[in-house]
Amino acid sequence: MSDFKGKAVMILGGSRGIGAAIVRHFAAAGANVTFTYASSADEAQKIASETGAKAVRADSALRSEVASAVADAGALDMMIINAGVAITGDLLKLEADAVDRLIDINVRAPYHAGVEAARKMHDNGRIIIIGSVNGDRVPWPGATAYALSKSAMQGLGRGLARDLGHRGITVNVVQPGPVDTDMNPVTGPFAEVMHGAMAIKRHAHVDEVAALVMFLCGPDAAMITGTTQTIDGGVGI
Ligand code: NDP
Repeated sequence: MSDFKGKAVMILGGSRGIGAAIVRHFAAAGANVTFTYASSADEAQKIASETGAKAVRADSALRSEVASAVADAGALDMMIINAGVAITGDLLKLEADAVDRLIDINVRAPYHAGVEAARKMHDNGRIIIIGSVNGDRVPWPGATAYALSKSAMQGLGRGLARDLGHRGITVNVVQPGPVDTDMNPVTGPFAEVMHGAMAIKRHAHVDEVAALVMFLCGPDAAMITGTTQTIDGGVGI
């Protein structure tokens, strides 16, 4: 693993799942880690005390909270935009307010967090956005709102990469397929349907996604920017 000793890293949504694994990887590599959470105060506290990372409560559904949390973190070397929610189900029955909240958390917050991070980010910094294979493909029903939000991350990633490239800052979107977390547990009712669309028929482990993020943040990835990096076991290929 690359040495991230002393690097200032912020992870949006680090209390559980993929974000928590990224917190642990960066902390183990010597980085100074700050992460946000909204509801999971106990989990956030536990990870903070185990890793030495700083936990900050900031609800991504509220622009002022997420923007202040990023601004308060100061000059970053790496920004990992991970916090997200999924709502799935019958398109005609989903509550409009729930869909709007998803768009606030999955689209508006990443935009504002990315821009706030860019204001003070050190040259040659890294921004990673956690998208989804559903940004490219939707091989199962009921995911329209979620897919919309993850396709938006592709435009955000390419736009930021173009705007920040002159400072040596790279911006990439990591697009997982099924990953075993609270959001999409391997024991969940849709696991079999998902595996049916995959070449490698299993959920990924959070550490597999975190390892890709670490590579993209490391010195060997300085020329990788504006890309989507899919880690999905071959969903819908
Ligand atoms: P989890 O539900 O396990 O964890 C979500 C994390 O995001 C938690 O730390 C949670 O914190 C945080 N979060 C959620 N809402 C907010 C909010 N309003 N404000 C601040 N933080 C928030 O999900 P995953 O780890 O599975 O997902 C992480 C990312 O990966 C998401 O963007 C998701 O869309 C994406 N992804 C996941 C896949 C999967 O199969 N698991 C597949 C493809 C993409 P708290 O509990 O404190 O609110």
